[in-house]
Parts: sequence; C-alpha cells; structure tokens
Amino acid sequence: MIKIYDTKARTKREFVPVHEGKVGMYVCGPTVYNYIHIGNARTFISFDTVRRYLMWRGYEVTFVQNVTDVDDKIIAKAAEEGRTPAEVAKEYTDAFIEDMHAAGVLDPDIRPRATEEINTMIALVEKLIEKGHAYVVDGDVYFAVRSYKHYGELSNRNVDEMESGHRELRADGQGLEDRKRDPLDFALWKAAKPGEPSWESPWGQGRPGWHIECSAMSEKYLGLPFDIHGGGADLAFPHHENERAQSEAACDCTFANYWMHGGMLQINSEKMSKSLGNFLLLRDVLKTTEASVLRMLMLQTHYRSPLDFSDERLCEASSALCRITNFIKNAQWLCQNAQDGETTFDMALLQRDVAAMREAFIEAMDDDFNTAGALGAIFSFIGEANTYMTNASLNAADSAALQESVQSVIELVGVLGISVEAECTDVCECSAALLALAHDVAGYDGSEGEAAIQCLLDCRAQARSDKNFAVADQIRDGLNDLGYLIEDTPQGARVSRK
Ligand code: AMP
Ligand code: ZN
Repeated sequence: MIKIYDTKARTKREFVPVHEGKVGMYVCGPTVYNYIHIGNARTFISFDTVRRYLMWRGYEVTFVQNVTDVDDKIIAKAAEEGRTPAEVAKEYTDAFIEDMHAAGVLDPDIRPRATEEINTMIALVEKLIEKGHAYVVDGDVYFAVRSYKHYGELSNRNVDEMESGHRELRADGQGLEDRKRDPLDFALWKAAKPGEPSWESPWGQGRPGWHIECSAMSEKYLGLPFDIHGGGADLAFPHHENERAQSEAACDCTFANYWMHGGMLQINSEKMSKSLGNFLLLRDVLKTTEASVLRMLMLQTHYRSPLDFSDERLCEASSALCRITNFIKNAQWLCQNAQDGETTFDMALLQRDVAAMREAFIEAMDDDFNTAGALGAIFSFIGEANTYMTNASLNAADSAALQESVQSVIELVGVLGISVEAECTDVCECSAALLALAHDVAGYDGSEGEAAIQCLLDCRAQARSDKNFAVADQIRDGLNDLGYLIEDTPQGARVSRK
C-alpha cells in the first residue's frame, strides 16, 4: 500500500487513484525566462522519481507539465535584451527540455504551453464569472477569494489573517488594490499594456494570470478530479491555493486528490533562487558532474526535507555511486572467472538478501517515496554481498544467481532514475589523493580513477617481480589508506572498496 504525504491533509494518506490502475499527475513547470537552477531541478527530479516508481508499481501514469511561456519576467527579460517575449520563451523552453534530458528526467506525456491554450483559460474564466466567483474591472478579471469558502485550506491559512499580508503588485505599479473588491482577490486575466503579448478575449485584449494556466491545463488533460498535484513547497501558497480555488469553484468538485510539495534546495541554509542570485545552473553543474551523481545526492535526502547542496555532498554521492558500480564490477568479474570448484559462499543466503533488499526497497518507497530508505536497502545488500565476495570463488553453475542479484540492483537504482552505466569517476578528495599516489609512485598522468588504479596495480606487479618490495608495499598501503583493498588471486590482483 502506497502512502503519500498530502499537504492539505497534513498527514500521510493511503493512495487510492481515481481510476483503478491509472494515475493522473500534474507538476507545475518552469517560467521560461532563464536556464533552470539545481533547486528547480530538485523538484523536477523528485517528481520524476515518484512517477517512475508508480510506473514500476504497475500504474499507467499520465504526467502533465506545463510551460509558462507568457509572464511578467519573460516580458521584462525580452525588453532588456531587445527581443520579443516569444523569442525569449522559445530559447529557454528548448534549454529546459535539453537540461531535463541531460539530468535523466523523463519527458512528460503532455507538455502544454500557456500561449497555446489561451482559449481553454478564457473558457474557465468565463465560467467563473458566470458562477459569481469572478468579476471584471476595466479589462482585468479578478477571482473573488471569499466566494470560495475553502480558500486557505491547502496551505493551512486563515482568510481573515491573510488580509494585510497578501498583496498583489501590478507589473506597472498601478493601484491594483483599488481596482479589486477585496485585497485578497487575484487576477485571472490582465488587460493588455502596450507592447505586451496579448490575446482577444470577451474583456478585450489581454493575457492570462499565472494561476489560471495550471487550472485550465490540468483539467483539460487529466479531467477532474485528478490524482496528484505537485510542485516545490514555495508554490503551495499562493499558486496552488489559487489554482485549487479557481478549479473547485468552477467545477464544484475536488480538484486534485493528493497535494505533494518538495522541500527547497538550499545553499548555506538559504533557499536557492533566481531572485536571491545565489543559484547554480543545472547545465553548469552537469558539465562537471554525472547526472547520476547529482541524482544520487538529491535522492539521499527525502523529497520533503530541505536539502543542502555542497561539494562535500556531491563527493559523498559520487562515492555512493561508486560503491554500486564497484559491486557490479566485482560480481561480474567473479562470474567471468567462475571455476569448476565449489562456490565459497552460500548462494541461498545471497538470494535471501536480494529478496530482503527488494522488500525493504518497496517498503521505503511505499512510505511517501522514501528514496533515502530505498537507497539504504540497496547499500545494505551491497555491504552483505561484498562480504560474501571477498576472497571468494564462484562455481560456474552459480553465475546466473549472482548475475540476477546484479540485475536486481541495476533494476532498483533504475527505478530511482539512477543509471549505473557510466564509469565510476569519483570526484572526491580521495580521488585527488588517488591520482597523486598514481602519479608519484607509478608515473600516471591521467585523471581517471579506474585507470590510475590499474596503473598502480601494474606497477606493483612489476615491483614484485623485480623483488622491489618497498614499492609494492607502498602501493598496497597507499591504496589501503584511501579505502581500497587489494586481493591477490590466481587471476591477478583485484581491488575492491573496503
Ligand atoms: P519556477 O520556474 O520558479 O516557477 O520554479 C519551477 C519549480 O521549481 C517550482 O516547482 C518551484 O517550486 C521549484 N523551485 C524553485 N526554487 C526551488 C528550490 N530552491 N528548491 C527546490 N525547488 C525549487
Ligand atoms: Zn501551477
């Protein structure tokens, strides 16, 4: 049974989809006026993982993600750069899609663009006016917040306490507050200002507000109610509160059954954001970091918790990924070097551990997508398996069973979207130390951890045959200090992580 923490209920709830075996998911997409930063990426990676897990559990998932391609920030950027808003939006939409691919995030099933769905939004605004939930002032249309009696329930706010705090600023700085009947009301449709992108509407030329976009698109592509609505925690209020108000007021039904919000990615305990200027672009981070390492870092923290990004965490994630790739390599090495003799460890025990890993993985993920727990299950299996495999030999007949355990690990990390195909390149300080050792003792000049180790092993073999035991020992001890264990086997020396 899958349980999801629902922001509105403020507790975990058993997941029961609207249509058996199917899941409709909507995750707010980016406003395309800049490259996305790794904070945005965290949210998208979290929901990609949720989606992948639900698919693996057998659900047919329909994943919808909008692109906000008309917005004040896009218009401002275009004016700054002497381009049209459409050009700016196109550039950063393409870049966003490219970045998501590079980060290993699956394409949504449907990616509606706001500018292509204006009529759907207009129809929804008309319906709200008809039902008395919205009103027109000089070409603007506002949602009457107090006409929807559940306003504030999602983000746990009391309407009467909100009044003074929540003020909407008009892009041109004009007195929006005077136009609204109630300061809490927000814009569904904004009258056009000269030079801005605008569309014909029953209220004159104008453009939609941000919130109405998601209400219109989610209903159009998923129907109401749909199962899961997601986004970063900063969207819960006002964006999601407003989406919910609009949609539920219009349809007199539930909008989304489960509201999921991801925690913020922080740098030095401060939220990473474009407006604070303390952001790292995803594309820059991916220039020096494998997508799988970044994903490992993200998934080592529960999606709802804040996540502190640092080089140190990146280093830990890289080592963690290396533990997985090293396990796979060691197991495959044993399979390739299988002998006629007895397997030196209990294969039934290994198989029992695989089953336990799978069970613990599912248990963790079923519990509100606890990816840290799921990874813990995989690592504890790898720890056991490494113990079995140390100084072991394998009977050829047992190869298939060992291979299966490897496949299980690859499958489960794959469910989390972590690919283990890439060579393990450890970005840690220890890898700098490894390269230094390989350079100083064995004359290695490259920058690949694996190649450095091989060079050290070759050098050690040569030293041993030359009876230069001082060098041979220096290499063994040096690797040992860095956390590597050398084993001498009839097939030659092997290195594993301690
Ligand atoms: P935006 O383009 O600002 O609307 O953001 C797109 C998505 O990224 C939204 O779901 C935001 O909640 C999310 N987001 C923005 N900043 C962060 C952050 N520092 N950490 C996690 N998610 C974020
Ligand atoms: Zn939205």
